[in-house]
Amino acid sequence: MESAEQLLPLARFLADCGVDMLRGGAYKPRTRPSDFQGLGREGLELLARAKEETGLPVVTEVVDAESLAQAAEIADTIQIGARNMHNYALLKKAGRTGLPVLLKRGFAATVEEWLAAADYVREAGDSEVVLCERGIRTFSRHSRFTLDLSVLPVLRERTDLPVCVDPSHATGRADAIAPMARAAVAAGADAVMIEVHPDPPAALCDGAQALRPEAFATLCAELRALGAFLAGAPEEVAP
Ligand code: PEP
Ligand code: MN
Repeated sequence: MESAEQLLPLARFLADCGVDMLRGGAYKPRTRPSDFQGLGREGLELLARAKEETGLPVVTEVVDAESLAQAAEIADTIQIGARNMHNYALLKKAGRTGLPVLLKRGFAATVEEWLAAADYVREAGDSEVVLCERGIRTFSRHSRFTLDLSVLPVLRERTDLPVCVDPSHATGRADAIAPMARAAVAAGADAVMIEVHPDPPAALCDGAQALRPEAFATLCAELRALGAFLAGAPEEVAP
């Protein structure tokens, strides 16, 4: 989230696309301190406005106790990012809010470590957890991380927790989002999380992995049709 001018029309557009939730980053854990760090509290206020205007539930990342306390006032779901998956104190605090937690997989986390992190959240209180596969670090350099879709059947066997896939952060490439999102739905993902920006080259953060709104609308309709087809309801598939 960069400004009201950037966020609010985009939020309305996404609501019209029929998305289930709106994710906006206010506290952003960036690799370099010189990178845009997010709007902080002001960003959360913007997200609250977007929620009010669209009626969409919202999810936002927290990085410490202070941002968690602020986010818990407006968010419907708390995101714990890949960099904080091993931050057990934060996991416990998030679990005590009672809000659902979107728990991203650490860059180098095994399934066991990821599920143990989910246990930290769940055992601290009554928060539900959604797991989010966002790519792991491998020797490959053609994409930002390596999207590990092979983890989906393993998670199905090991847990009842819902699973979200984030092709944007996994690949870092806008051209990879649609094929990887389709593959995620086909592999049984319960949700996908996709970055959208009205003008990706001008984005303050992660522009290379964001879709333009029109491209997102097309993909969204396609994924919904694919999901309906896979659920055995081909009559609901849009032409
Ligand atoms: C994000 O979702 O904005 C983010 C920083 O992702 P990750 O924690 O997966 O790197
Ligand atoms: Mn991002």
